[in-house]
Amino acid sequence: MSDLVKEQGASRSDDCPPCPGKPVLERIDARQAEIGKGFIVRRAVPSKARRMVGAWCFLDHAGPVAHGPGEGLKVGPHPHIGLQTFTWMIEGEGLHRDSLGYEQIIRPGQVNLMTAGRGIAHSEESPHDGAGRLHAAQLWIALPDSERHREPAFHHYPDLPVIERGGFTVTLLAGEALGQTAPAQVFSPLVGLDLTSRGAASTRLPLEPGFEHAVMCLRGSARVEGEVVEPGMLLYLGQGRDTVEIGCDGEAQLLLVGGEPFAEDILVWWNFVARTPEEIRTATENWNAGRGFGEVKGTPLAPLKAPSLAGLSIKG
Ligand code: MN
Repeated sequence: MSDLVKEQGASRSDDCPPCPGKPVLERIDARQAEIGKGFIVRRAVPSKARRMVGAWCFLDHAGPVAHGPGEGLKVGPHPHIGLQTFTWMIEGEGLHRDSLGYEQIIRPGQVNLMTAGRGIAHSEESPHDGAGRLHAAQLWIALPDSERHREPAFHHYPDLPVIERGGFTVTLLAGEALGQTAPAQVFSPLVGLDLTSRGAASTRLPLEPGFEHAVMCLRGSARVEGEVVEPGMLLYLGQGRDTVEIGCDGEAQLLLVGGEPFAEDILVWWNFVARTPEEIRTATENWNAGRGFGEVKGTPLAPLKAPSLAGLSIKG
């Protein structure tokens, strides 16, 4: 889903305020884009205010939307390097195909984790005739320098740890929390949680104080440390918190992400996470020439072409 909103300029992680090293409450508006009929994507990270939360370097909230026959998700083959794509399906289904030969349907409550490493290509489409509801979060995790040239991999996680707490159903998407460990294979200290309530709920969740954290509201409305959160914004919590207080008066769904502040500066352009413009140039030229990423077999969709490298302008 990531590629539907074209990013022309590169995003540099050292181009925004560093992790403040203490608790803060920063409200950050997500950018909104309509990618096909009524299909809204809200991009909370990267933004001018925050390029990363730990190793999480891309937070997209897609939908909810009701697609008619022939509509739905249609993202043709495209490449990635230097990151993991992390898909959390809330409603509907998505069909993933990649250049390693994996073909996997993801359903609500499941995670697809694709580790691009040195390079992979994939497509994402709605299965069947595309009709039905779709609601998902697609997140990227930057790989640290020591891991970013590793072999590509794909994992599907159908069962995640679920904990009931204070009226919330807490699903552990990544990392460790509440005495549980998520199965997703990640390469830096981080955490991801989904909190869903059917009615009023309230809890104080323990946090790792060495992490920075942020909360995105996916549905309904809630309060986080007294701040009202709704879809379309990110509440950045800073670092150094032992706990976070979360409550709501009715149905709500929240995504909480956190991680050790990422020690390396990264460069994000199109679907690539790199360190230098030269790496991005090479990856782009390779993709456009059909080199180095392999072929995504079985998809009816045409491969995406990289945007012009002229957009790869790096501000000093
Ligand atoms: Mn992708």
